[in-house]
Formats: sequence, structure tokens, C-alpha cells
Amino acid sequence: MSQSAAISIAHLNHYYGQGSLRKQVLFNINLQIERGEILIMTGPSGSGKTTLLTLMGSLRSIQEGNLSILGSELLDASKEQMTLARRNIGYIFQAHNLLNFLTAYQNVEMALEIQEVTATEADARIRNILTAVGLEARMDYYPSNLSGGQKQRVAIARALVSQPKIILADEPTAALDKKSGRDVVEIMEKLAREQSCTILMVTHDNRILDLADRVIYMEDGHLMNPSNVGEIAQ
Ligand code: ADP
Ligand code: MG
Repeated sequence: MSQSAAISIAHLNHYYGQGSLRKQVLFNINLQIERGEILIMTGPSGSGKTTLLTLMGSLRSIQEGNLSILGSELLDASKEQMTLARRNIGYIFQAHNLLNFLTAYQNVEMALEIQEVTATEADARIRNILTAVGLEARMDYYPSNLSGGQKQRVAIARALVSQPKIILADEPTAALDKKSGRDVVEIMEKLAREQSCTILMVTHDNRILDLADRVIYMEDGHLMNPSNVGEIAQ
């Protein structure tokens, strides 16, 4: 396995439930994602995509197999090691999870508080990233006064402001119309390429597959053989 990979997964299995209710949901997953790569994962609902994403995101413990993030193994990792791994990751979910009592600016600021940056640098970074997602005129708006696409752009700004090495996005365009969905992903792609950030995005949206370097397909807990974007898009 290459040490330089952003994410490296070998023989990964995952189960939910205990005893007779125990059910396997991931089967022998093997996957290598290079640094700077933009990967899209598709597949039917219930096939295990979110489970795999939460394992990669160090949000759930590895049960069987190996998964390393930027060279750190997560199998048998301590709570502290899992927390450290999460510092390298930006998360974007379908429900953007903005805090409604904070403005766009404050929602993005939240993501920087654990980082060691000065107040002046934090302010500059927050303004830059909100400008980059096209919200320079909306920084002081509360989520209730933003459209779905604008809220998702705040979520992108929040995920990127700490300049993570990896972005994990779970159906980030699900709640958006066609045009805003593509806009949001294009912004994410552009910023990630500028920061040499690796992206793994789950989506059902066939119209954005062309933005990926590689598309992978999950079915019934199995990762299907990699195909190129063209073959799947046809
Ligand atoms: P996808 O994101 O592709 O829709 P999921 O990873 O959410 O798939 O789910 C994979 C399988 O695991 C499904 O059968 C789902 O019902 C089951 N599952 C997901 N989360 C849990 C959980 N917390 N407890 C038990 N079963 C779960
Ligand atoms: Mg899911």
C-alpha cells in the first residue's frame, strides 16, 4: 500500500447489530484514493455508501480490515487518534447542519475555533472563503434567510476554511435543484483543486459525474470494479 495515498482501504468489512441481529453491510472493500484525487461514489440507496464514508471520516470505529487516512491506521485507533484524524477532514452532508442561531460568518468561524490561527487571520480566511463561494454579500445573514443552494455553499465554506487535506461529502446536492447542485459542486471542485485537497463525494446526480477524476460504484455492500467516468456516464 502506498504511504502517499490520502485514503487506503484493505479487506474492510462492517457489521451492524449484535447476536442474531448482526448484519454485514460492507464486504471486503479495497480502495486507494490518491492525494488530490476527486472521486465520486454512486450506488443504490442502502448499499453502504454512508457507512463507508463515516468509517473513512473516523466517525465510526473500524471493526475488521485496514483503513488509513494520510498514512495513519484507524484500526484499533484510540479516541485521541481518531480525533486527530478528523482534524484533516472537512465534512459536507446532505442536511447542511448549519446552526440556525448563527450567521453564515459565525457558522464558518465555528470550524476554525480549534485551529491555531490568530483572530486577524481567522477573519481574513472566513471572508475569503465566503467570497469564494459567492456569499460576500450574505456573510451576516442567518440560515433562515438563505436559499438551499446558499446554505449548502456556507456548508462548503465551513468544510474548507480549515484547509483540510480531505473532503467527505455525502449527497451534498440532494436538496438542490439541477443548476444550484452543479454550481455548488463546481465551487467545491475548484477550491479543492486550488488547495490540492482530496474529495470523496457520494451522489446520485448523474449530471455531475464528469467533475470527477474517477467514479466508483457500490452495490449491496460490495465495491464494484473501478470503471472510468465515461463508461458509467453512458
Ligand atoms: P447508503 O448510504 O448507500 O444508502 P447506508 O450505509 O446508509 O447505505 O446503509 C447500508 C445498510 O446498513 C442499510 O441496509 C442500512 O439499513 C443499514 N444501516 C445503516 N445505518 C445503520 C445503523 N446505524 N444501524 C443499523 N443498520 C444500519
Ligand atoms: Mg447514504
